[in-house]
Amino acid sequence: MHALPHTIAPDRLPDLLRLMPKAELHIHIEGSLEPELIFALAQRNGIVLPYASVDELRSAYAFTNLQSFLDIYYAGASVLIQEQDFYDMAHAYFVKAAADNVVHAELFFDPQTHTARGVAIETVIKGLHRACVDAQAELGVSASLILCFLRHLSEEKAFETLEQALPYRDKFIGVGLDSGEVGNPPEKFARVFARCRELGLHLVAHAGEEGPPAYIWTALDVLKVERIDHGVQAIKDPALMQRLAQDRIALTVCPLSNLKLCVFPDLAQHNLRQLLDAGLAITINSDDPAYFGGYMNDNFTQTFAAVGMDAEHAYTLARNSFEASFIDKATLGHYIGRLDACFESFR
Ligand SMILES: [Zn+2]
Repeated sequence: MHALPHTIAPDRLPDLLRLMPKAELHIHIEGSLEPELIFALAQRNGIVLPYASVDELRSAYAFTNLQSFLDIYYAGASVLIQEQDFYDMAHAYFVKAAADNVVHAELFFDPQTHTARGVAIETVIKGLHRACVDAQAELGVSASLILCFLRHLSEEKAFETLEQALPYRDKFIGVGLDSGEVGNPPEKFARVFARCRELGLHLVAHAGEEGPPAYIWTALDVLKVERIDHGVQAIKDPALMQRLAQDRIALTVCPLSNLKLCVFPDLAQHNLRQLLDAGLAITINSDDPAYFGGYMNDNFTQTFAAVGMDAEHAYTLARNSFEASFIDKATLGHYIGRLDACFESFR
């Protein structure tokens, strides 16, 4: 049983949110590319960007929906060419994650964004994996990789990507589904997810970010995913809410992303607290932090301030992040122990 969070004074809550150990389960590593690093990698690789300066690029980060973001996101990823570029990108993320007391991270990566430009999947996976290994050694952050299929492309392309990745099967733990959601329902990828399941890979998928609750149902029942990425539209479907609560299906919610992509008009109207209070296994994550104005602790502190949550919510969210992760039981016990010790120190 955990320490009594209600004994923690409200004015100490922001410090508690920053200091408590947490896991990040929804981070697209290409979405952690800061404009400064985009320009540095462009220079290193002799690539001319369609933006004159770091400031001009940053000012283009005004999005109206998911697609307007994806257009700039894919342009930013074009500077990634060498294995070292992928390493440097992931390393920069891990330094920021460690500063936010993220002690475990499961990173999404989009191989098709790179193989379509002629970059070998080996280059992508080896660079990212080496950064994961070093994150543990240098920063004490445990990390693993989840390969995402781009859902606006065909299932055939997803199968090709899986085949290319299989020689590096030991370097990633699962597969996911991302990119433009509406019009690309989970069931479009039924066969490739069935194959990944046979291979013993963990399965997750974006569903119910902008898309309808029906996409969450098919992600669960057709793809058989273990977690839903986003999932905030579940609130429209009481039967689905019940299913998610009953089966403890975690939702990896990304509040600042939802704000920037206009899924909610402002953070105070975000439904995260309602979902959490309804008994769903909710987690807080940064999604594409370089583009959406904040890493993990920004997501935590701004969301708590906007929707009025307390230390009990903080504990539940952090604990959910570990329980919904794909770490082994011993590591889980270790992290829960650190979480409890942190709350104990705030009594
Ligand atoms: Zn995402």
